[in-house]
Amino acid sequence: MLLQAFSEAEGSYVSGQKMSEVLGCSRTAVWKHIEDLRKEGYELEAVRKLGYKIVKVPDKISGNEIRLGLKTKRLGRHIHFEESVGSTQKTAHALAGSGAEEGTIAVADQQTEGRGRLSRSWHSPKGKGIWMSTILRPEIPLNKTPQLTLLAAVAIVQAIEESTGLSPDIKWPNDILINGRKAVGILTELQAEADRVHSVIIGTGLNINHEKNDFPEELHGIATSLRMESGQKFNRAQIIQEILLKLETLYDQYLTHGFKPVKLLWESYAISLNRRITARTLQGAVSGRAIGIDDEGVLLLQKDNGETERIYSADIELEG
Ligand code: ATP
Repeated sequence: MLLQAFSEAEGSYVSGQKMSEVLGCSRTAVWKHIEDLRKEGYELEAVRKLGYKIVKVPDKISGNEIRLGLKTKRLGRHIHFEESVGSTQKTAHALAGSGAEEGTIAVADQQTEGRGRLSRSWHSPKGKGIWMSTILRPEIPLNKTPQLTLLAAVAIVQAIEESTGLSPDIKWPNDILINGRKAVGILTELQAEADRVHSVIIGTGLNINHEKNDFPEELHGIATSLRMESGQKFNRAQIIQEILLKLETLYDQYLTHGFKPVKLLWESYAISLNRRITARTLQGAVSGRAIGIDDEGVLLLQKDNGETERIYSADIELEG
């Protein structure tokens, strides 16, 4: 409740009088609540006559920290936090199945069975990254849902740029790389029936404060974190807020104007376009030049014989 008051004050001071009204207790009892916040790792500045202001929030993501200063209208307004879960995707599927509102997020400090595409595992150690799944309920046909993976990738790149000054690239369809190494994985899953989409669940694994040795040996050389690329540590809750804000803005734009604006942004961040790639699909490998994505989000590959092949799902290897 007290954090709510700070959130509404948007970074300015909250007076002792206001706090005692919000908490329904005496001005002296307010002091105890302030001390509790300090014990949780918040740093507060007190100025006589003005009241208190939060100057630093702890690097925790237990719900309150995400709510404090969150600027979205729908996304992240319902937060399901657990210290440790198998996978936030699994939690979000259960929440979506029992009627959770659009924008509900499942977030955890650690995943013990984090997963990526095709049941590949996603390493998600405690306290280092953002392991989060967001429930959307768009009224779109099934064949348009891959667009939301691309939309999420753009939102996350924008949030990373804004929060860190780094310049990530997108590798089709679902990876975000910084200086050639993977910092983010996105996994989009559906709950649908016939052609009706009930929910789209966007899973995001984002490596934030890892140092090299926080990754297992087999990921050295493949994976990176925002800290490893910038030399700085980041507050995870603030990055979650930024992701949710960018995601909501783009998603609203998408619902009103369609995929075109997202497509243009996506292309501006895509690392694989106009390069030779090899796409390994279930039907075999195809090589050629990636020339773009179509209006559905399908990758267009121009083969050496000039024919264009549409790639729906594949592992992509960049050549040269
Ligand atoms: P890629 O295209 O990079 O081969 P993918 O798109 O097929 O991966 P994803 O679902 O994005 O698969 O992620 C799973 C893969 O990512 C794992 O097989 C592993 O190689 C790598 N990986 C696992 N955990 C992490 C992590 N925390 N950071 C970066 N990479 C990871």
